Amino acid sequence: MAIIEPVAGSSAPRRLRVASPASGEPIGELSVSSAEQVDAVVQRARAAQPGWQALGFGGRARCMRRALEILLEQQDAYIDVIGRETGRSHFETLMMEILPACDSLSYYAKRAARILRDEKPRLHLLRNKKLLISYRPLGVIGIITPWNGPFILTLNPSVQALMAGNTVVLKPSEVTPFSGRLVAELFERAGVPKDVLAVVEGDAETGSALVQSGVDKICFTGSVATGRKIAEACARRLLPCTLELGGKDPMIVCADADLERAAGGAVFGGFINAGQFCCGTERVYVVDAVADEFVQRVVEKTVTLRLGASGEYDVGPMIWPKQLEIVERHVADAVARGAKVLVGGKRRTDLGELFYEPTVLVDVTHEMQIMRDETFGPVLPILRVRDEDQALALANDSSYGLSATLWTRDGDKALRLARRIESGSVCVNDSSITYGATEAPFGGVKSSGLGQANGEAGLKGFCHAQPIILDRFGAKAEQVWYPYTAEKTRFLKRLMRAIWGTPLGRLLS
Ligand code: NAD
Repeated sequence: MAIIEPVAGSSAPRRLRVASPASGEPIGELSVSSAEQVDAVVQRARAAQPGWQALGFGGRARCMRRALEILLEQQDAYIDVIGRETGRSHFETLMMEILPACDSLSYYAKRAARILRDEKPRLHLLRNKKLLISYRPLGVIGIITPWNGPFILTLNPSVQALMAGNTVVLKPSEVTPFSGRLVAELFERAGVPKDVLAVVEGDAETGSALVQSGVDKICFTGSVATGRKIAEACARRLLPCTLELGGKDPMIVCADADLERAAGGAVFGGFINAGQFCCGTERVYVVDAVADEFVQRVVEKTVTLRLGASGEYDVGPMIWPKQLEIVERHVADAVARGAKVLVGGKRRTDLGELFYEPTVLVDVTHEMQIMRDETFGPVLPILRVRDEDQALALANDSSYGLSATLWTRDGDKALRLARRIESGSVCVNDSSITYGATEAPFGGVKSSGLGQANGEAGLKGFCHAQPIILDRFGAKAEQVWYPYTAEKTRFLKRLMRAIWGTPLGRLLS
């Protein structure tokens, strides 16, 4: 079964058919935009940018607030569309997609003007000058997004780029194109002028065309492999990019953890969105002294999860068949090397092609694929460790570094461990919620990404910080201008000695 497949006989434009991950039934089609079409859309977005910028923060915020009203009023219709192409439950879609989308619209509408207002820091050295830093939009932003959070991961960077005064060209995942269309439709209904946010649909060909199209920045969320290709293409064009990539997020359970809470967090973090969550719990290290009790609680909670796609259920199908194949490969590799399946471990074809049971593995080793490569599915491998130091060493022994979670009752220890873990963000006694903490800069280290999204840092990332240096006293000439003389040399040396060679100078500099 393929969730997307070419429409037979379609060549120019190529058409793709998308099927429901729950039922396998076709739910719609999309045309793959060509490079020429992408270029034309980007040119129109460029032409629309000055008008959008001229609206000012107030005008742009009005559109975001209107979008928020529409989303709040019609959330069920939005949830239906997103649910159709992800198979996720109503609640999970509400929690993962709609709630953070509402917050993003509200947060940046309210705060962008303050965050991006001119700054006037005092110059510590050039006292005869004034500095003003102006945050200017970059122009047109190309946003390329994945299928696992198809609405929020498309809407949230768009809101930030738009509030900063840029126009946007979106390339949603071909696996979940209708959520991308929803974002464009929402902004259109909210009064965002034509061409200020446009969608180009398609697969890698269209994404690659967007990178080559002459946009001013690429904001990419997706896999490490594609991220590398995009980084290379951007480097050739000297194009700035942020890359939000994959992870292999560790969870460390200390001996003093609240085991009931930790087990609940492991189950939620491991199986949310059927494990297809970039900051999901991908591997667990539990200190030997509490491992038995922790595992028992995890198993007890996992067996109660309801797998399904209708009515009330907890875990839906996987969204993309190729991801399910990776999950099966990782589990098979682990089992072949001695891991034990305590719960799950197989597809549930009685429910549909893409359902995989929430799975708990023990007796895993650090060499297994399940502990090293991104699985991105509903599997929780648990490794016993001697102590927290060993847990930390194994957690850090990874090419990834997106986020991590620590479970302990000792706040000081949590901070000490958090500062030693090689990870873009850390959550203590909770599964990874950093993306939902809007003020927190979000992004990975190591192979998990480049740059950060969200909050002040994220918003400023859609701008060029332009320093404007102003003269304070209007002297006829500056000391360092021509002609260069021996007297000027002596003056400069005396000045340097006064500034950095005396206690008073050092105090004031
Ligand atoms: P992917 O890299 O296959 O695709 C992502 C997007 O890139 C899609 O829109 C795709 O069409 C496009 N694309 C593919 N090849 C391209 C190319 N050569 N040039 C330009 N665009 C191209 O990723 P995916 O499978 O859709 O998403 C799953 C991955 O995303 C996982 O690794 C997950 O961890 C990661 N992810 C990361 C975050 C984060 O914030 N760090 C969030 C969600 C998902």
